[in-house]
Amino acid sequence: MATSLLRFVHLQRQPPAVRPAAARSQDFAEIYPDFDAAAAARQASRCSQCGVPFCQVNCPVGNHIPDWLALCAEGRLREAWELSQSTNTLPEICGRICPQDRLCEGACVLEQSGHQTVTIGAIERYLTELAFAQGWVQPVAPLDSSESQTSVGIVGSGPAGIAAAEQLRRLGHAVHIYERSDRAGGLLTYGIPGFKLDKAVVQRRIDWLRDSGVQFHLSCEVGQTVSLTELRARHQAVLLATGVYRTRGLALQGSELPGVVAALDYLVAQNRCDLGDFGEGPPPAPLYAAGKRVVVIGGGDTAMDCVRTAIRQGAASVTCLYRRDRANMPGSQREVGHAEAEGVQFRWQSAPLAILGGERVTAVQACQVELGDPDASGRQQPVLRRDRPFEQPADLVISALGFEPEALPERLGDPRLLVNLDGTLQTTGLHTSLPGVFAAGDISSGASLVVWAIRDGRDAAEAIHRHLQSALPIWRHAGERGPFSASGLYAASSPSDPEVRS
Ligand SMILES: Cc1cc2nc3c(=O)[nH]c(=O)nc-3n(C[C@H](O)[C@H](O)[C@H](O)COP(=O)(O)OP(=O)(O)OC[C@H]3O[C@@H](n4cnc5c(N)ncnc54)[C@H](O)[C@@H]3O)c2cc1C
Ligand code: SF4
Repeated sequence: MATSLLRFVHLQRQPPAVRPAAARSQDFAEIYPDFDAAAAARQASRCSQCGVPFCQVNCPVGNHIPDWLALCAEGRLREAWELSQSTNTLPEICGRICPQDRLCEGACVLEQSGHQTVTIGAIERYLTELAFAQGWVQPVAPLDSSESQTSVGIVGSGPAGIAAAEQLRRLGHAVHIYERSDRAGGLLTYGIPGFKLDKAVVQRRIDWLRDSGVQFHLSCEVGQTVSLTELRARHQAVLLATGVYRTRGLALQGSELPGVVAALDYLVAQNRCDLGDFGEGPPPAPLYAAGKRVVVIGGGDTAMDCVRTAIRQGAASVTCLYRRDRANMPGSQREVGHAEAEGVQFRWQSAPLAILGGERVTAVQACQVELGDPDASGRQQPVLRRDRPFEQPADLVISALGFEPEALPERLGDPRLLVNLDGTLQTTGLHTSLPGVFAAGDISSGASLVVWAIRDGRDAAEAIHRHLQSALPIWRHAGERGPFSASGLYAASSPSDPEVRS
Protein backbone atom coordinates (compact mmCIF):
# COMPACT_ATOMS: atom_id res chain seq x y z
CA MET A 1 0.00 0.00 0.00
CA ALA A 2 2.80 2.40 0.93
CA THR A 3 4.15 2.54 -2.62
CA SER A 4 0.95 4.05 -4.03
CA LEU A 5 0.51 6.68 -1.33
CA LEU A 6 2.24 9.65 0.29
CA ARG A 7 3.04 11.20 -3.10
CA PHE A 8 2.18 14.71 -1.98
CA VAL A 9 5.79 15.93 -1.96
CA HIS A 10 6.30 15.36 -5.67
CA LEU A 11 2.76 15.45 -7.00
CA GLN A 12 0.86 18.73 -7.07
CA ARG A 13 -2.80 19.07 -6.26
CA GLN A 14 -4.65 19.07 -9.58
CA PRO A 15 -8.45 19.28 -9.42
CA PRO A 16 -10.45 18.60 -12.60
CA ALA A 17 -9.96 21.56 -14.96
CA VAL A 18 -12.68 24.13 -14.42
CA ARG A 19 -14.36 25.32 -17.63
CA PRO A 20 -13.00 28.75 -18.68
CA ALA A 21 -15.06 31.64 -17.28
CA ALA A 22 -15.91 33.04 -20.71
CA ALA A 23 -17.43 29.73 -21.84
CA ARG A 24 -19.15 28.67 -18.63
CA SER A 25 -20.86 32.02 -18.09
CA GLN A 26 -22.83 31.45 -21.33
CA ASP A 27 -24.76 28.43 -20.06
CA PHE A 28 -26.08 26.63 -16.99
CA ALA A 29 -24.04 23.44 -17.35
CA GLU A 30 -21.83 22.30 -14.45
CA ILE A 31 -18.48 24.04 -14.40
CA TYR A 32 -16.35 21.03 -13.33
CA PRO A 33 -16.03 17.80 -15.31
CA ASP A 34 -15.39 14.40 -13.67
CA PHE A 35 -11.92 13.04 -13.03
CA ASP A 36 -10.81 10.22 -15.28
CA ALA A 37 -9.53 7.02 -13.66
CA ALA A 38 -5.83 7.87 -13.95
CA ALA A 39 -6.21 11.39 -12.55
CA ALA A 40 -8.35 10.15 -9.65
CA ALA A 41 -5.79 7.49 -8.73
CA ARG A 42 -2.92 10.00 -9.01
CA GLN A 43 -4.63 12.58 -6.84
CA ALA A 44 -5.73 9.97 -4.28
CA SER A 45 -2.10 8.83 -4.02
CA ARG A 46 -1.20 12.24 -2.54
CA CYS A 47 -2.94 11.31 0.73
CA SER A 48 -0.56 11.16 3.69
CA GLN A 49 -2.68 8.60 5.60
CA CYS A 50 -2.51 10.62 8.83
CA GLY A 51 -2.83 8.80 12.14
CA VAL A 52 -5.55 11.25 13.12
CA PRO A 53 -7.59 11.92 9.96
CA PHE A 54 -8.73 15.51 10.50
CA CYS A 55 -10.51 15.40 7.11
CA GLN A 56 -12.78 12.65 8.45
CA VAL A 57 -13.36 14.44 11.74
CA ASN A 58 -14.41 17.56 9.81
CA CYS A 59 -16.71 15.70 7.44
CA PRO A 60 -20.24 15.92 8.90
CA VAL A 61 -21.05 12.35 7.83
CA GLY A 62 -17.70 11.03 9.10
CA ASN A 63 -16.60 9.65 5.74
CA HIS A 64 -13.69 7.18 5.99
CA ILE A 65 -11.71 9.39 3.66
CA PRO A 66 -8.10 8.12 4.01
CA ASP A 67 -9.31 4.52 3.58
CA TRP A 68 -11.22 5.11 0.34
CA LEU A 69 -8.43 7.31 -0.98
CA ALA A 70 -5.99 4.44 -0.40
CA LEU A 71 -8.30 1.98 -2.18
CA CYS A 72 -8.73 4.41 -5.06
CA ALA A 73 -4.97 4.90 -5.39
CA GLU A 74 -4.57 1.12 -5.58
CA GLY A 75 -7.23 0.76 -8.26
CA ARG A 76 -9.64 -1.10 -5.93
CA LEU A 77 -12.43 1.16 -7.10
CA ARG A 78 -15.49 -0.84 -6.25
CA GLU A 79 -14.29 -1.29 -2.67
CA ALA A 80 -13.48 2.41 -2.51
CA TRP A 81 -16.99 3.31 -3.65
CA GLU A 82 -18.63 0.81 -1.31
CA LEU A 83 -16.81 2.33 1.64
CA SER A 84 -17.55 5.89 0.59
CA GLN A 85 -21.31 5.23 0.19
CA SER A 86 -21.51 3.39 3.53
CA THR A 87 -21.52 6.69 5.41
CA ASN A 88 -23.05 9.06 2.85
CA THR A 89 -26.39 8.72 1.03
CA LEU A 90 -25.49 11.25 -1.69
CA PRO A 91 -21.69 11.15 -2.18
CA GLU A 92 -21.81 12.36 -5.80
CA ILE A 93 -23.83 15.40 -4.69
CA CYS A 94 -21.62 16.22 -1.69
CA GLY A 95 -18.58 15.82 -3.93
CA ARG A 96 -20.06 18.56 -6.11
CA ILE A 97 -21.49 21.06 -3.64
CA CYS A 98 -20.00 20.66 -0.17
CA PRO A 99 -17.94 23.73 0.71
CA GLN A 100 -14.89 21.47 1.03
CA ASP A 101 -12.64 24.42 1.82
CA ARG A 102 -14.56 24.79 5.11
CA LEU A 103 -14.95 21.05 5.78
CA CYS A 104 -12.82 18.03 4.83
CA GLU A 105 -10.28 19.71 2.55
CA GLY A 106 -9.87 22.72 4.84
CA ALA A 107 -8.83 20.34 7.62
CA CYS A 108 -6.51 18.19 5.47
CA VAL A 109 -3.07 18.04 7.11
CA LEU A 110 -1.41 18.60 3.72
CA GLU A 111 -3.30 21.87 3.40
CA GLN A 112 -2.25 22.91 6.89
CA SER A 113 1.39 22.08 6.14
CA GLY A 114 1.52 24.05 2.90
CA HIS A 115 1.37 21.11 0.45
CA GLN A 116 -2.24 21.75 -0.66
CA THR A 117 -5.13 19.50 0.24
CA VAL A 118 -6.04 16.23 -1.44
CA THR A 119 -8.94 16.75 -3.90
CA ILE A 120 -11.31 14.82 -1.64
CA GLY A 121 -14.64 16.07 -3.01
CA ALA A 122 -13.74 15.46 -6.66
CA ILE A 123 -12.60 11.90 -5.89
CA GLU A 124 -15.79 11.18 -3.91
CA ARG A 125 -17.82 12.37 -6.90
CA TYR A 126 -15.72 10.32 -9.32
CA LEU A 127 -16.18 7.08 -7.36
CA THR A 128 -19.98 7.37 -7.30
CA GLU A 129 -20.28 8.45 -10.94
CA LEU A 130 -18.18 5.39 -11.79
CA ALA A 131 -20.47 3.23 -9.64
CA PHE A 132 -23.55 4.47 -11.53
CA ALA A 133 -21.83 3.93 -14.89
CA GLN A 134 -20.76 0.40 -13.91
CA GLY A 135 -24.20 -0.56 -12.56
CA TRP A 136 -22.88 -1.03 -9.01
CA VAL A 137 -25.58 1.24 -7.55
CA GLN A 138 -28.60 -0.98 -6.91
CA PRO A 139 -32.00 -0.22 -5.37
CA VAL A 140 -31.95 -0.35 -1.59
CA ALA A 141 -33.18 -3.62 -0.13
CA PRO A 142 -33.84 -4.39 3.55
CA LEU A 143 -30.62 -5.59 5.20
CA ASP A 144 -32.17 -8.86 6.34
CA SER A 145 -34.34 -9.26 3.21
CA SER A 146 -37.60 -8.88 5.10
CA GLU A 147 -40.16 -6.11 5.19
CA SER A 148 -41.34 -4.99 8.61
CA GLN A 149 -44.99 -4.14 9.22
CA THR A 150 -44.21 -0.51 9.97
CA SER A 151 -44.48 2.51 7.76
CA VAL A 152 -42.93 5.94 8.17
CA GLY A 153 -44.23 9.17 6.62
CA ILE A 154 -41.59 11.72 5.68
CA VAL A 155 -42.63 15.32 5.07
CA GLY A 156 -40.22 16.90 2.61
CA SER A 157 -38.04 15.35 -0.11
CA GLY A 158 -34.83 17.36 0.32
CA PRO A 159 -31.53 15.75 1.33
CA ALA A 160 -32.70 15.12 4.92
CA GLY A 161 -35.83 13.31 3.73
CA ILE A 162 -33.89 11.38 1.07
CA ALA A 163 -31.21 10.23 3.51
CA ALA A 164 -33.79 9.13 6.08
CA ALA A 165 -35.78 7.29 3.40
CA GLU A 166 -32.72 5.33 2.28
CA GLN A 167 -31.83 4.24 5.79
CA LEU A 168 -35.40 3.36 6.74
CA ARG A 169 -35.77 1.21 3.62
CA ARG A 170 -32.56 -0.62 4.54
CA LEU A 171 -34.20 -1.41 7.88
CA GLY A 172 -37.28 -2.80 6.13
CA HIS A 173 -39.79 -0.03 6.86
CA ALA A 174 -42.29 1.11 4.25
CA VAL A 175 -41.55 4.76 3.43
CA HIS A 176 -43.89 7.42 2.05
CA ILE A 177 -42.53 10.87 1.18
CA TYR A 178 -45.00 13.78 1.08
CA GLU A 179 -43.77 16.75 -0.95
CA ARG A 180 -45.65 19.99 -1.54
CA SER A 181 -43.74 20.76 -4.71
CA ASP A 182 -44.38 19.16 -8.08
CA ARG A 183 -40.87 17.66 -8.13
CA ALA A 184 -38.87 15.90 -5.43
CA GLY A 185 -35.42 16.98 -4.23
CA GLY A 186 -36.08 20.14 -2.18
CA LEU A 187 -33.39 22.76 -2.61
CA LEU A 188 -31.28 20.27 -4.59
CA THR A 189 -33.87 20.58 -7.35
CA TYR A 190 -35.19 24.12 -7.09
CA GLY A 191 -32.64 26.13 -5.05
CA ILE A 192 -29.11 25.19 -6.07
CA PRO A 193 -28.34 26.26 -9.67
CA GLY A 194 -27.58 23.78 -12.43
CA PHE A 195 -24.03 25.07 -12.90
CA LYS A 196 -23.26 23.68 -9.41
CA LEU A 197 -25.50 20.61 -9.54
CA ASP A 198 -27.00 19.14 -12.69
CA LYS A 199 -30.68 18.35 -12.12
CA ALA A 200 -30.31 14.95 -13.80
CA VAL A 201 -27.97 13.97 -10.95
CA VAL A 202 -30.74 14.72 -8.43
CA GLN A 203 -33.44 12.98 -10.49
CA ARG A 204 -31.27 9.85 -10.73
CA ARG A 205 -31.36 9.60 -6.91
CA ILE A 206 -35.13 10.14 -6.80
CA ASP A 207 -35.55 7.35 -9.36
CA TRP A 208 -33.24 5.15 -7.26
CA LEU A 209 -35.44 5.70 -4.19
CA ARG A 210 -38.57 4.93 -6.22
CA ASP A 211 -36.94 1.72 -7.44
CA SER A 212 -36.17 0.98 -3.78
CA GLY A 213 -39.88 1.03 -2.96
CA VAL A 214 -40.18 4.56 -1.57
CA GLN A 215 -43.60 6.04 -2.43
CA PHE A 216 -43.61 9.70 -3.42
CA HIS A 217 -46.72 11.86 -2.97
CA LEU A 218 -45.92 15.00 -4.96
CA SER A 219 -47.92 18.26 -4.91
CA CYS A 220 -49.10 17.14 -1.48
CA GLU A 221 -48.71 19.80 1.19
CA VAL A 222 -48.96 18.54 4.74
CA GLY A 223 -51.19 21.00 6.57
CA GLN A 224 -53.22 21.62 3.38
CA THR A 225 -53.68 18.55 1.18
CA VAL A 226 -53.42 16.23 4.14
CA SER A 227 -53.26 17.03 7.85
CA LEU A 228 -50.46 16.07 10.20
CA THR A 229 -53.03 14.30 12.35
CA GLU A 230 -54.04 12.14 9.40
CA LEU A 231 -50.40 11.38 8.63
CA ARG A 232 -49.80 10.31 12.23
CA ALA A 233 -52.74 7.94 11.96
CA ARG A 234 -51.47 6.49 8.66
CA HIS A 235 -47.89 5.88 9.79
CA GLN A 236 -46.23 4.56 12.92
CA ALA A 237 -43.77 7.45 12.83
CA VAL A 238 -43.51 10.76 10.98
CA LEU A 239 -40.37 12.69 10.09
CA LEU A 240 -40.60 16.44 9.47
CA ALA A 241 -37.87 17.43 7.00
CA THR A 242 -39.49 20.56 5.63
CA GLY A 243 -36.49 22.88 5.33
CA VAL A 244 -36.60 26.63 6.00
CA TYR A 245 -38.32 28.87 3.48
CA ARG A 246 -39.26 32.20 5.05
CA THR A 247 -37.14 34.86 3.34
CA ARG A 248 -35.47 37.44 5.56
CA GLY A 249 -36.87 40.66 4.14
CA LEU A 250 -34.93 43.81 3.22
CA ALA A 251 -37.04 46.03 5.52
CA LEU A 252 -35.97 49.12 3.57
CA GLN A 253 -37.97 52.01 2.18
CA GLY A 254 -38.85 51.12 -1.42
CA SER A 255 -38.34 47.38 -1.05
CA GLU A 256 -41.90 46.77 -2.31
CA LEU A 257 -41.12 48.43 -5.68
CA PRO A 258 -41.49 46.32 -8.85
CA GLY A 259 -38.04 45.03 -9.72
CA VAL A 260 -37.16 43.99 -6.16
CA VAL A 261 -37.32 40.20 -5.85
CA ALA A 262 -36.45 37.47 -3.34
CA ALA A 263 -33.44 35.26 -4.07
CA LEU A 264 -35.29 31.97 -3.93
CA ASP A 265 -38.06 33.12 -6.30
CA TYR A 266 -35.34 34.19 -8.71
CA LEU A 267 -33.36 30.93 -8.48
CA VAL A 268 -36.46 28.70 -8.65
CA ALA A 269 -37.53 30.43 -11.88
CA GLN A 270 -34.19 29.67 -13.56
CA ASN A 271 -34.21 26.07 -12.32
CA ARG A 272 -37.76 25.64 -13.67
CA CYS A 273 -36.55 27.09 -16.95
CA ASP A 274 -33.68 24.56 -17.05
CA LEU A 275 -36.21 21.80 -16.36
CA GLY A 276 -38.30 22.92 -19.35
CA ASP A 277 -41.25 24.40 -17.48
CA PHE A 278 -41.29 27.48 -19.77
CA GLY A 279 -40.84 25.52 -22.99
CA GLU A 280 -37.96 27.00 -24.97
CA GLY A 281 -38.46 30.42 -23.41
CA PRO A 282 -36.69 32.23 -20.55
CA PRO A 283 -38.06 32.68 -17.01
CA PRO A 284 -40.90 35.22 -16.53
CA ALA A 285 -39.71 38.80 -17.19
CA PRO A 286 -39.72 40.04 -13.54
CA LEU A 287 -37.39 37.17 -12.65
CA TYR A 288 -35.13 37.43 -15.68
CA ALA A 289 -31.95 39.52 -15.66
CA ALA A 290 -31.14 39.75 -19.40
CA GLY A 291 -30.08 43.31 -20.31
CA LYS A 292 -30.66 44.58 -16.75
CA ARG A 293 -28.37 46.19 -14.22
CA VAL A 294 -28.59 43.72 -11.36
CA VAL A 295 -27.78 44.38 -7.71
CA VAL A 296 -27.67 41.45 -5.30
CA ILE A 297 -27.76 42.24 -1.58
CA GLY A 298 -26.08 39.67 0.68
CA GLY A 299 -22.83 37.75 1.02
CA GLY A 300 -23.75 34.10 1.49
CA ASP A 301 -23.83 31.17 -0.91
CA THR A 302 -27.36 32.08 -2.02
CA ALA A 303 -26.12 35.55 -3.02
CA MET A 304 -23.28 33.92 -4.99
CA ASP A 305 -25.79 31.68 -6.77
CA CYS A 306 -27.86 34.74 -7.70
CA VAL A 307 -24.98 36.82 -9.08
CA ARG A 308 -23.71 33.91 -11.14
CA THR A 309 -27.20 33.14 -12.45
CA ALA A 310 -27.64 36.79 -13.49
CA ILE A 311 -24.35 36.69 -15.40
CA ARG A 312 -25.53 33.60 -17.29
CA GLN A 313 -28.89 35.21 -18.09
CA GLY A 314 -27.03 38.04 -19.86
CA ALA A 315 -27.36 40.89 -17.35
CA ALA A 316 -25.89 44.23 -18.43
CA SER A 317 -23.99 44.37 -15.13
CA VAL A 318 -24.02 42.44 -11.85
CA THR A 319 -22.99 44.01 -8.55
CA CYS A 320 -22.97 42.38 -5.13
CA LEU A 321 -23.36 44.62 -2.08
CA TYR A 322 -22.01 43.11 1.12
CA ARG A 323 -21.53 44.90 4.42
CA ARG A 324 -18.33 43.17 5.58
CA ASP A 325 -15.09 42.54 3.70
CA ARG A 326 -14.16 39.58 1.55
CA ALA A 327 -12.37 37.73 4.35
CA ASN A 328 -15.53 37.86 6.47
CA MET A 329 -18.03 36.70 3.88
CA PRO A 330 -20.19 33.78 4.98
CA GLY A 331 -20.11 32.39 1.43
CA SER A 332 -17.46 29.96 0.25
CA GLN A 333 -14.30 31.70 -0.98
CA ARG A 334 -14.22 29.26 -3.88
CA GLU A 335 -17.64 30.50 -5.04
CA VAL A 336 -16.60 34.14 -4.66
CA GLY A 337 -13.55 33.45 -6.84
CA HIS A 338 -15.75 31.85 -9.52
CA ALA A 339 -18.12 34.83 -9.43
CA GLU A 340 -15.29 37.33 -9.82
CA ALA A 341 -13.85 35.39 -12.75
CA GLU A 342 -17.29 35.38 -14.40
CA GLY A 343 -17.54 39.18 -14.24
CA VAL A 344 -19.37 39.99 -10.99
CA GLN A 345 -18.42 43.29 -9.33
CA PHE A 346 -18.23 43.25 -5.53
CA ARG A 347 -18.74 46.36 -3.44
CA TRP A 348 -17.35 45.21 -0.10
CA GLN A 349 -18.28 47.03 3.10
CA SER A 350 -21.42 48.50 1.57
CA ALA A 351 -24.85 48.56 3.20
CA PRO A 352 -28.18 49.35 1.49
CA LEU A 353 -30.21 52.21 3.00
CA ALA A 354 -33.21 52.45 0.63
CA ILE A 355 -34.48 51.27 -2.73
CA LEU A 356 -35.03 54.17 -5.11
CA GLY A 357 -37.44 54.43 -8.01
CA GLY A 358 -40.86 55.53 -9.24
CA GLU A 359 -42.91 53.00 -11.14
CA ARG A 360 -40.12 50.52 -10.66
CA VAL A 361 -36.68 50.32 -9.09
CA THR A 362 -33.93 52.52 -10.52
CA ALA A 363 -31.14 52.34 -7.91
CA VAL A 364 -30.07 51.20 -4.47
CA GLN A 365 -29.17 53.99 -2.06
CA ALA A 366 -26.27 52.68 0.02
CA CYS A 367 -23.41 53.79 2.23
CA GLN A 368 -19.96 52.60 3.13
CA VAL A 369 -19.34 50.49 6.20
CA GLU A 370 -16.46 50.37 8.65
CA LEU A 371 -15.71 47.24 10.59
CA GLY A 372 -15.82 47.97 14.31
CA ASP A 373 -15.06 45.95 17.42
CA PRO A 374 -15.65 42.21 17.41
CA ASP A 375 -18.85 40.98 19.08
CA ALA A 376 -19.15 37.95 21.37
CA SER A 377 -18.76 35.64 18.37
CA GLY A 378 -15.48 37.32 17.43
CA ARG A 379 -16.81 38.87 14.20
CA GLN A 380 -16.15 42.57 13.63
CA GLN A 381 -19.37 44.51 13.73
CA PRO A 382 -20.34 46.66 10.71
CA VAL A 383 -20.65 50.39 11.48
CA LEU A 384 -22.65 52.32 8.85
CA ARG A 385 -20.96 55.48 7.54
CA ARG A 386 -24.05 57.43 6.40
CA ASP A 387 -21.71 60.34 5.68
CA ARG A 388 -20.27 58.28 2.83
CA PRO A 389 -23.36 57.51 0.72
CA PHE A 390 -23.52 56.29 -2.86
CA GLU A 391 -26.13 55.18 -5.38
CA GLN A 392 -25.87 51.91 -7.25
CA PRO A 393 -28.03 51.98 -10.41
CA ALA A 394 -30.33 48.97 -10.70
CA ASP A 395 -33.17 47.56 -12.82
CA LEU A 396 -33.37 44.36 -10.77
CA VAL A 397 -32.57 44.09 -7.05
CA ILE A 398 -32.29 40.61 -5.55
CA SER A 399 -32.52 40.25 -1.81
CA ALA A 400 -30.39 37.35 -0.55
CA LEU A 401 -30.30 37.81 3.20
CA GLY A 402 -31.03 34.23 4.22
CA PHE A 403 -33.93 32.10 5.35
CA GLU A 404 -35.85 31.36 8.52
CA PRO A 405 -38.30 28.60 9.39
CA GLU A 406 -41.94 29.03 8.47
CA ALA A 407 -44.35 29.03 11.44
CA LEU A 408 -44.66 25.26 11.45
CA PRO A 409 -47.12 24.73 14.34
CA GLU A 410 -49.62 26.98 12.52
CA ARG A 411 -48.91 25.58 9.06
CA LEU A 412 -49.23 22.01 10.27
CA GLY A 413 -52.18 22.87 12.49
CA ASP A 414 -50.80 21.55 15.77
CA PRO A 415 -49.76 24.03 18.49
CA ARG A 416 -48.35 21.17 20.56
CA LEU A 417 -45.42 21.10 18.12
CA LEU A 418 -42.93 23.18 20.11
CA VAL A 419 -40.41 25.47 18.45
CA ASN A 420 -37.29 27.31 19.58
CA LEU A 421 -37.01 31.09 19.58
CA ASP A 422 -35.64 31.04 16.03
CA GLY A 423 -38.59 28.93 14.81
CA THR A 424 -36.68 25.65 14.43
CA LEU A 425 -38.36 22.60 15.90
CA GLN A 426 -37.57 21.69 19.48
CA THR A 427 -36.18 18.18 19.61
CA THR A 428 -34.64 15.70 22.00
CA GLY A 429 -32.59 13.19 20.08
CA LEU A 430 -34.39 14.43 16.93
CA HIS A 431 -37.76 13.55 18.54
CA THR A 432 -40.11 16.57 18.54
CA SER A 433 -42.60 17.42 21.28
CA LEU A 434 -45.21 15.23 19.51
CA PRO A 435 -44.92 11.51 20.24
CA GLY A 436 -43.68 9.58 17.21
CA VAL A 437 -42.89 12.76 15.26
CA PHE A 438 -39.22 13.43 14.47
CA ALA A 439 -37.39 16.29 12.74
CA ALA A 440 -34.26 16.52 10.59
CA GLY A 441 -32.38 18.93 8.35
CA ASP A 442 -32.72 22.70 8.23
CA ILE A 443 -36.04 22.70 10.11
CA SER A 444 -34.27 21.27 13.14
CA SER A 445 -30.87 22.94 12.83
CA GLY A 446 -31.62 26.20 11.00
CA ALA A 447 -30.37 26.93 7.47
CA SER A 448 -27.26 24.83 7.02
CA LEU A 449 -25.69 22.56 4.42
CA VAL A 450 -26.72 19.56 2.35
CA VAL A 451 -24.20 17.30 4.07
CA TRP A 452 -25.55 18.23 7.51
CA ALA A 453 -29.09 17.52 6.30
CA ILE A 454 -27.90 14.09 5.16
CA ARG A 455 -26.30 13.45 8.53
CA ASP A 456 -29.50 14.50 10.30
CA GLY A 457 -31.68 12.36 8.04
CA ARG A 458 -29.55 9.30 8.75
CA ASP A 459 -29.53 9.99 12.48
CA ALA A 460 -33.30 10.50 12.42
CA ALA A 461 -33.80 7.14 10.67
CA GLU A 462 -31.78 5.48 13.41
CA ALA A 463 -33.82 7.26 16.11
CA ILE A 464 -37.11 6.34 14.42
CA HIS A 465 -36.07 2.72 14.09
CA ARG A 466 -35.12 2.57 17.78
CA HIS A 467 -38.40 4.23 18.70
CA LEU A 468 -40.44 1.76 16.66
CA GLN A 469 -38.58 -1.19 18.08
CA SER A 470 -38.93 -0.12 21.68
CA ALA A 471 -42.45 1.31 21.58
CA LEU A 472 -44.11 -1.06 19.18
CA PRO A 473 -42.48 -4.48 19.28
CA ILE A 474 -45.54 -6.16 17.72
CA TRP A 475 -44.74 -4.43 14.41
CA ARG A 476 -41.52 -6.34 14.18
CA HIS A 477 -41.34 -9.74 12.65
CA ALA A 478 -40.95 -11.91 15.73
CA GLY A 479 -37.32 -12.83 16.30
CA GLU A 480 -36.08 -11.40 13.05
CA ARG A 481 -34.10 -8.50 14.32
CA GLY A 482 -32.61 -7.96 17.72
CA PRO A 483 -32.18 -4.62 19.42
CA PHE A 484 -31.03 -2.07 16.88
CA SER A 485 -27.35 -1.85 16.28
CA ALA A 486 -25.91 0.86 14.09
CA SER A 487 -23.05 -1.27 12.87
CA GLY A 488 -23.27 -2.09 9.22
CA LEU A 489 -25.96 0.50 8.66
CA TYR A 490 -24.36 3.68 9.72
CA ALA A 491 -20.77 4.16 10.69
CA ALA A 492 -20.26 7.90 10.97
CA SER A 493 -17.95 8.99 13.71
CA SER A 494 -17.87 12.77 13.73
CA PRO A 495 -19.86 14.80 16.25
CA SER A 496 -23.12 16.33 15.06
CA ASP A 497 -22.73 19.42 17.19
CA PRO A 498 -24.86 22.21 15.69
CA GLU A 499 -22.16 24.68 16.76
CA VAL A 500 -19.79 23.35 14.13
CA ARG A 501 -22.32 23.58 11.30
CA SER A 502 -21.47 26.20 8.75
C1 LIG B 1 -29.90 28.95 -3.07
C2 LIG B 1 -29.30 27.95 -2.14
C3 LIG B 1 -28.08 27.40 -2.46
C4 LIG B 1 -27.49 26.48 -1.61
N1 LIG B 1 -26.29 25.95 -1.96
C5 LIG B 1 -25.73 25.01 -1.16
C6 LIG B 1 -24.48 24.42 -1.51
O1 LIG B 1 -23.88 24.75 -2.52
N2 LIG B 1 -23.98 23.46 -0.69
C7 LIG B 1 -24.63 23.05 0.44
O2 LIG B 1 -24.14 22.15 1.13
N3 LIG B 1 -25.81 23.62 0.81
C8 LIG B 1 -26.36 24.58 0.05
N4 LIG B 1 -27.55 25.15 0.41
C9 LIG B 1 -28.22 24.69 1.65
C10 LIG B 1 -28.94 23.36 1.42
O3 LIG B 1 -29.63 23.38 0.20
C11 LIG B 1 -29.89 23.06 2.57
O4 LIG B 1 -29.17 23.11 3.79
C12 LIG B 1 -30.52 21.66 2.42
O5 LIG B 1 -31.19 21.53 1.20
C13 LIG B 1 -31.50 21.39 3.58
O6 LIG B 1 -32.09 20.14 3.36
P1 LIG B 1 -33.53 19.79 3.96
O7 LIG B 1 -33.82 18.42 3.49
O8 LIG B 1 -33.53 20.08 5.41
O9 LIG B 1 -34.53 20.85 3.31
P2 LIG B 1 -34.92 21.22 1.81
O10 LIG B 1 -33.87 20.86 0.84
O11 LIG B 1 -35.32 22.64 1.87
O12 LIG B 1 -36.19 20.31 1.52
C14 LIG B 1 -37.39 20.49 2.24
C15 LIG B 1 -38.55 20.01 1.39
O13 LIG B 1 -39.74 20.00 2.18
C16 LIG B 1 -40.82 20.43 1.37
N5 LIG B 1 -41.89 20.89 2.26
C17 LIG B 1 -41.86 21.97 3.09
N6 LIG B 1 -43.02 22.06 3.78
C18 LIG B 1 -43.80 21.02 3.36
C19 LIG B 1 -45.11 20.60 3.70
N7 LIG B 1 -45.86 21.23 4.60
N8 LIG B 1 -45.61 19.50 3.07
C20 LIG B 1 -44.86 18.82 2.14
N9 LIG B 1 -43.61 19.21 1.79
C21 LIG B 1 -43.08 20.28 2.41
C22 LIG B 1 -40.21 21.52 0.52
O14 LIG B 1 -40.99 21.78 -0.63
C23 LIG B 1 -38.84 20.89 0.19
O15 LIG B 1 -38.92 20.12 -0.98
C24 LIG B 1 -28.14 26.10 -0.41
C25 LIG B 1 -29.37 26.67 -0.08
C26 LIG B 1 -29.94 27.60 -0.93
C27 LIG B 1 -31.24 28.22 -0.56
S1 SF4 C 1 -19.28 14.66 2.35
FE1 SF4 C 1 -18.55 16.76 2.02
S2 SF4 C 1 -17.23 17.16 3.80
FE2 SF4 C 1 -17.52 14.92 3.69
S3 SF4 C 1 -15.77 14.15 2.45
FE3 SF4 C 1 -17.47 14.51 1.04
S4 SF4 C 1 -17.12 16.58 0.26
FE4 SF4 C 1 -15.90 16.38 2.14
